[in-house]
Amino acid sequence: MTLLDEYCREELTALEAASQRRVLRQTHRTGVMVEQDGKNYVSFSCNDYLGLSEHPQVIAAADAALKRYGAGAGASRLVTGNHPLYAPLERAIAAQKHTEAALVFGSGYLANLGTIPALMGAPDIIFADKLVHACLLDGAQLSGATVKRFKHNDMGHLAALVAQHRPHFRHALILVDHVYSMDGDVAPLAELAEIAAQNHIWLMVDDAHGLGVVPSAAQGVDIWMGTLSKAAGAYGGYVAAKKSVIDLLVTRARSLVFSTGLPAATCAAALTALELIAAEPARGERAVALANRVCAAMGLPPTKTTILPIIMGDAERALAASEALKRHGILAVAIRPPTVPPATARLRLTFSSAHTDAQVEQLIAALRAEGIAHV
Ligand SMILES: *Cc1c(COP(=O)(O)O)cnc(C)c1O
Repeated sequence: MTLLDEYCREELTALEAASQRRVLRQTHRTGVMVEQDGKNYVSFSCNDYLGLSEHPQVIAAADAALKRYGAGAGASRLVTGNHPLYAPLERAIAAQKHTEAALVFGSGYLANLGTIPALMGAPDIIFADKLVHACLLDGAQLSGATVKRFKHNDMGHLAALVAQHRPHFRHALILVDHVYSMDGDVAPLAELAEIAAQNHIWLMVDDAHGLGVVPSAAQGVDIWMGTLSKAAGAYGGYVAAKKSVIDLLVTRARSLVFSTGLPAATCAAALTALELIAAEPARGERAVALANRVCAAMGLPPTKTTILPIIMGDAERALAASEALKRHGILAVAIRPPTVPPATARLRLTFSSAHTDAQVEQLIAALRAEGIAHV
């Protein structure tokens, strides 16, 4: 045993004891069906909310681009990797978000990791919702700015922190998710925009789970970011903002400058998916309606999104509930701390327009049979 080996084994043992060890499972996904360990399940754990990752037009566009441009971009976008599919993709994103311009990154994670440090530094302050996605916090930390967290969706707490701290810093930025990834609730964007405007604070909204599902029409958002890997069914991240912001990011965002461009096929898939989202809004509406069918059956308040958490409390209970659902042919992954706050381990159910009504009834029947309910 080497010293490193010994260290890692000890850490893994401790994680296992706390039900926090994570392992990779080979998964073969076909639409909403997944196969793991030779068994088939209806998945309520995918983020392909509109079923676009397998849409024939999306695949055909990727296929054509693959043949025309090859498998890889070959270099950073600033060198020779800026192939001809970036411009139409960025125009489609800017149109979707009603902004002057957009910039595509390697992933949503890379977009946040590059954008926040490009705009913020040590003399600045960031106000972040307690439940924002990990990659916003990673970007905030990397920027070297002071970070203050406000209670989830609590505008009174945000206003108090702003009153206390804003005057002592140069620039300020508010970070929120549009749709919270583990809770499925929506940020009060109009109120956030008002607090931002009144206090000379920039507002950045992560729309990873909103695109194609919850309209992003709010005024006063300085920076929209998101991913092309969820409802858009492909891969990549983006920022949409004024042209000046985008132009500055092209020079300053290190995760763009020092990382290879996306494959053209990926951009082609995302572009076609965005066109389908714009042309066929019924997909997003259906996915939300299916989530609401389960809310009604479980006695939970209605939702505006495709994400429905069933809070189980401790990690063992969440894992047991997930295992129990598997026996009914349902895959609903347990989400545990540290991804969610302590004692709020949960089943995170996600809904897709590709689920059939019968599959949703199957889920409801399984939840009832196992007595699984929100604590
Ligand atoms: C998934 C996700 C990201 C990261 O996007 P990727 O393209 O998967 O890297 C960022 N923010 C939120 C809220 C997410 O859910």
